Amino acid sequence: MALKAKVLSQYCKSCGYCVHFCPKKALSFGKERNGLGAFSPVVDKEKCIGCGICATMCPDAALELREEA
Ligand code: SF4
Ligand code: SF4
Repeated sequence: MALKAKVLSQYCKSCGYCVHFCPKKALSFGKERNGLGAFSPVVDKEKCIGCGICATMCPDAALELREEA
């Protein structure tokens, strides 16, 4: 089990903070718009170390950490 970032894409406004501040470059913008018209990020789980910086930075509570097998 390890903590990994999970994007709650419906809340994302594409500000880019998480993509910019992730120390592992594990986040990148996806290609599909959400209900707000924003492109939300996707997580590369191989790169994510579960540090939580993205969740702390997100102004819209669109990221959280979850335990994953
Ligand atoms: S938890 Fe850390 S390593 Fe994982 S996506 Fe967020 S900022 Fe990047
Ligand atoms: S910080 Fe939050 S609102 Fe901004 S791009 Fe990342 S998930 Fe979306």
